Amino acid sequence: MAGDPIGELVALFARLPGIGERTATRLAFFVLESPPELASGLGEALSKLHDRVKRCRTCGNFGADELCNICRDPRRDASIVCVVARVPDLVAIERSGAFRGRYHVLHGLLAPLDGIHPENLPIAELRERVEREGVRELVVATPLTVEGEATALYLADVFGDSGVEVTRIASGMPH
Ligand code: ZN
Repeated sequence: MAGDPIGELVALFARLPGIGERTATRLAFFVLESPPELASGLGEALSKLHDRVKRCRTCGNFGADELCNICRDPRRDASIVCVVARVPDLVAIERSGAFRGRYHVLHGLLAPLDGIHPENLPIAELRERVEREGVRELVVATPLTVEGEATALYLADVFGDSGVEVTRIASGMPH
C-alpha cells in the first residue's frame, strides 16, 4: 500500500475544525518528525475513542463509565442543574470553576425547521430528573442564537409551573 501517507494525514487533519491546509501540513510533519510513540499514541487513542467513551446515563456528559465524574461527585449540588447544548459548553463552564451544581446535556437545540423537536432532545429525561432528584433550579446556558433562545424559552415554559426556578445565563459555544 504505497499511496500518499503524508498527503492522507494532511487531508484528515484538515477536516478538524479550525485547522486549515497549512496547519494540517505543519501537524503532519510535526508527527512525522517526532518519536514514533506520538504517532502510535495518537493512533491508539483515536481508534479506541468511540469504544471507550460513554454518555453518562444521567446527564449525557461524556466519560469512561455509566455515570460521569460530575454525577458521581457527592460534593456537587444536585439541586441546581445547568442545561447546556453540548459537552464543550459544559467543559467551558467547568473551566471557569464558578458552578458547583450538576449538568444536563441536550446534545442539540430545538430547530423545528431542521426537524429537531422537543421529543428529539432528552427533555423528558430532564423532567424525570427534576422530580427524582428534587432539582430546585435549572440554569439554562444554551447559546444566544435563535435555536438557543427557542430552547431556553421552551424550557422556561415546560418547567414554568413545576415550582422549579428557571434562570438564563449567556453561554455556549457558537455552533
Ligand atoms: Zn453525568
